[in-house]
Amino acid sequence: MRFSFILLAGGNSNRFKSDLPKPYHKIGKKTLIELSLDKIRKFKEIEKIIIIYNKKHLRFLKKIDLKNIKIINGGKTRQQSTIIALSYLKKQNVTTKVLIHDAARPNFSNELIKKILFESKKNRVVIPTLKIQDALKKKNNKKKYSNLERKNFFLTQTPQCFILKDILYFHKKNKYQDDDMSLINNFDKLKLIKGEKRNFKITDKHDFNLLKSIYKSNLKVGIGFDVHRLVKDRQLFLGGIKIPSKLGTLGHSDGDPVLHAIIDAILGACQMGDIGEKFSDKNKIFKNISSTFLLKVIIKQIQEKNYEVNNLDVNIITQSPKLKKFKKKIINNISSLCKIPLENINIKAKTTEKLGVIGKEKAIATEVIVSIIKYD
Ligand code: ZN
Repeated sequence: MRFSFILLAGGNSNRFKSDLPKPYHKIGKKTLIELSLDKIRKFKEIEKIIIIYNKKHLRFLKKIDLKNIKIINGGKTRQQSTIIALSYLKKQNVTTKVLIHDAARPNFSNELIKKILFESKKNRVVIPTLKIQDALKKKNNKKKYSNLERKNFFLTQTPQCFILKDILYFHKKNKYQDDDMSLINNFDKLKLIKGEKRNFKITDKHDFNLLKSIYKSNLKVGIGFDVHRLVKDRQLFLGGIKIPSKLGTLGHSDGDPVLHAIIDAILGACQMGDIGEKFSDKNKIFKNISSTFLLKVIIKQIQEKNYEVNNLDVNIITQSPKLKKFKKKIINNISSLCKIPLENINIKAKTTEKLGVIGKEKAIATEVIVSIIKYD
């Protein structure tokens, strides 16, 4: 069975009241569109992904990684946009089933998609639903209300899954109201499954802030520490930047204590061990290796697990050289390596008031605290 996924992001976002259209608002570094895409891309059963966009928003869409994604300019309404996407898929003649999803619902779980794909094997239509928990009333006319028994009602969510040729036929024939299920009048082989409260629809800023707070509650924190001996005839790298100095760090790699402490802090937050386990100093491959390269490897590894660095606080502890004029360069470099905004990085250069091995310029140390967001 071949599935396609239609992501509807063609609306005007009028209710969102912002210059930046709703689907392009970001949680951390990911737009709402990317939050959905990143999850859907992992399902091998889903062969084709289509984004329906609003042509006024193309410049925002172009900033997203659209590899293997088909983008199509949408129609005036949700229904018109859906018909455009379904007609495109029909012409391609490869897909039997289609999941139709609103970009305004980026917080579904992988389990929900698994359940929909599974149920669609035995059913023509699969719809995620939620029970109503509040009391339900109907406004009849001015000052006249009736009470409804909420157990007779339910809410529908997306993604909704259909057989491609069925849903395209129904779109052309039946009356549409708010969602694709509204077109169906044959309820044989229609499966209602339990939807997810977390898969709520982002309509206004309040919903967006709620989503943000959900991700923030997924924040993890890690701590890193590193110290290197200072010796003659070695170079000094701090945060990936070569610093002019009469002494340099001794180490198996380039001996950059800032990047090493950052790596350890990140690995700690992600529960992925430590730098020594990842890059053993017994391994000749890592002899004199650039720590910039090591950090790049780690950032790639955590991204594969859906982690992203949120912010970094760094203490560099050294008697000399003075680091004030290199701070900006170091922050710029860490920002591009860790792919986080400059304002999410702080560096403090400290001395030990000439006390101990650091005060006597025999060593340099760094401590780091990092926060990491997990997206899934
Ligand atoms: Zn080190």
